[in-house]
Amino acid sequence: MKYDDLFMHEIIEHSPDDARVLDLGCGKGSLDYSRFMRLNVFLLDTVDRMGSDASEKIRARFVRGDSCELPYRTDSFDICLCNFVLEHVPGPVEVVREVYRVLKPQGLFFVSIPNCGSIEDRIFRRLASDHCNQFTFKSFIELMYTHTGFKLVSFCNWPGGFNYLVGKYAKYQMPLFYALRIISRIFNRNLLTESNYLFLFRKEERAGLRFMNAACRICGSGHLLEDDGRNWSCPNCGAKNIAI
Ligand SMILES: [Zn+2]
Repeated sequence: MKYDDLFMHEIIEHSPDDARVLDLGCGKGSLDYSRFMRLNVFLLDTVDRMGSDASEKIRARFVRGDSCELPYRTDSFDICLCNFVLEHVPGPVEVVREVYRVLKPQGLFFVSIPNCGSIEDRIFRRLASDHCNQFTFKSFIELMYTHTGFKLVSFCNWPGGFNYLVGKYAKYQMPLFYALRIISRIFNRNLLTESNYLFLFRKEERAGLRFMNAACRICGSGHLLEDDGRNWSCPNCGAKNIAI
């Protein structure tokens, strides 16, 4: 069985030779771009952590900027990488709208985010509360499908690794794993699964979120009623239905 590309190295390795890649909230760089000198890489972050000699080692241009207002032309990138960034930005809707604008039609958008409902992220937020936004799988897909025409190509869940437990917290890492293993076995539920999500979206023309607000009591068909406060007749089978 073959899978669609998802991971950053797959997306980059399978890109055209002169692909224009935007690394949004790049930090020290989401990938080792010295391996991909054939690409046109654009790096953006609020702080320059790349180091002054970075632009000599890699074919990349760093810009200090605001991801809510990207300093790039419309329809100008093939790929955008956004690796554990959207949980840190004050306006995630503005950011994904801007990414949608600057990507070319059919352009690819890689996103990774923590799942706010996971044990790993709950512990992380207690230790280092630098997340402005909390996403679940459903809330993030709804955000993307409501505000942009991005469509999901592939995704996976990324189990918890607690790799942020370093320094003074390092001694808690193994006891935590043992405790979680015991609890997981008692309740027959893996508490490490779905700590983070990886998504690959493609830029399409129209938003993908659709709505229904009623289902017929007789034939079961779903409908979007303009006035959902009134009793209604099913457009499919004619049955009388009462408003809930
Ligand atoms: Zn019906």
